[in-house]
Amino acid sequence: MANCAIVGINWGDEGKGRMVDLLTEDYDVVVRFQGGGNAGHTVINEKGKFALHLLPSGIFRNGVINVLGNGVALDPENLWKEMQEVTSKGVELSPENLKISDRASLLLPWHRDMDELEEKRLADKKYGSTKQGIAPFYSDKYQKKTILAGDLFFPEELRMHLKELMEWKNLTLTLVYGAEPYTMEMLEEWLQSCCERIKPYICNTGDFLKKAESEGKKILFEAQLGSLRDLDYGIYPYTTSSNTTAAYAPIGSGLPSAKIDEVVGVVKAYSTCVGEGPFVCEMFGDEAEELRKNGFEYGAKTGRPRRVGPIDIVATHYGVEVQAATEIALTKLDVLSYMDKIPVCTHYLLNGEQIDRFPFPSALKNAKPVIEYFDGWKCDISGARSWNDLPKAAQEYVMFIEKQIGCPIKYISVGPERDSIVIR
Ligand code: GDP
Repeated sequence: MANCAIVGINWGDEGKGRMVDLLTEDYDVVVRFQGGGNAGHTVINEKGKFALHLLPSGIFRNGVINVLGNGVALDPENLWKEMQEVTSKGVELSPENLKISDRASLLLPWHRDMDELEEKRLADKKYGSTKQGIAPFYSDKYQKKTILAGDLFFPEELRMHLKELMEWKNLTLTLVYGAEPYTMEMLEEWLQSCCERIKPYICNTGDFLKKAESEGKKILFEAQLGSLRDLDYGIYPYTTSSNTTAAYAPIGSGLPSAKIDEVVGVVKAYSTCVGEGPFVCEMFGDEAEELRKNGFEYGAKTGRPRRVGPIDIVATHYGVEVQAATEIALTKLDVLSYMDKIPVCTHYLLNGEQIDRFPFPSALKNAKPVIEYFDGWKCDISGARSWNDLPKAAQEYVMFIEKQIGCPIKYISVGPERDSIVIR
């Protein structure tokens, strides 16, 4: 594998962090190219258990250089907190192994307030934001109303620009939402307490990546969330505010000329979805609770119980197409071991018609799942390390999914630990 992107095929939380942690062994550089600290990758390895929000999952490997690209929502406050958290557990971070793009836009303190205030205003019509300021941040980025990380090196202009932005944002905060205005003292405190701390890590990561590529270094692009949360291709407006697709990796990483040779699409062996929005294959009641408990499906950032359901072939097939996945990592197959019969959502029923193409977002609320059942294997598969270690029923389940989604399943994950993997 030369350059590779690891992306989510579904609604996020598919186990991408665990796959990046595993595959970084073969890579020199890991780049996060979009999104912010609003989701979490959980990684378990010899250093402990970590919930990463913004840091690339390659930070645990010695010799791997990690990049936060220009496409991310760079929140200096949370990033600095996360950096302290991982270093307190023995992970080494330095400008040698962590590089922050000077072209990454900064998530400003009021972005979080705006998120919170707007969700409160929407009340029961809310989008289910994690209130990390991501949507207000990206709106302002595209309005050109934020600052770049590299601007921190131009203190005079920076303060003038921040003052203008603050005066503009205070109008919305006070007049629209009746909230307290920001002051320059508050921004100074923000600059000193976190921005100054991350400054040593900021550099021209575009130049760095170009050089790394020309030296034949292998680059891994790491995404957050999944296809169905992509701003352009997902279940709008219940998407995130950035592009979660592999096609965005070259732009968001700082290496627009990058060719992505492999796209590893991560699919969970069942479905989960955090927050609001249509989720056709959703299970309810005891059946849902049992799956949630077995899969430990509670948000890494918010602790919110995730909505759960059987694997959704219609959505997954669409997700594979959107990502142009070349191979699949199927995760959490071990979680299904308790089931007598394993449900699979094979089609949707929409307006009396059985469909296998993922419909337009607004049509999703009228779609009903068509469920087929497969035999369970009813034994512990977490020790499986090769295809033949898997019971026949598990193999049949994997092969059925592979055929339906039209992409080879190369990795089958049977536990959260780094080595709990079957590679076909
Ligand atoms: P990400 O955001 O896509 O990285 O996914 P999350 O970290 O939110 O969710 C994946 C969760 O499942 C984490 O707690 C992982 O430790 C766990 N996990 C990943 N792969 C497996 C697996 O194969 N089996 C089990 N039981 N847990 C897994």
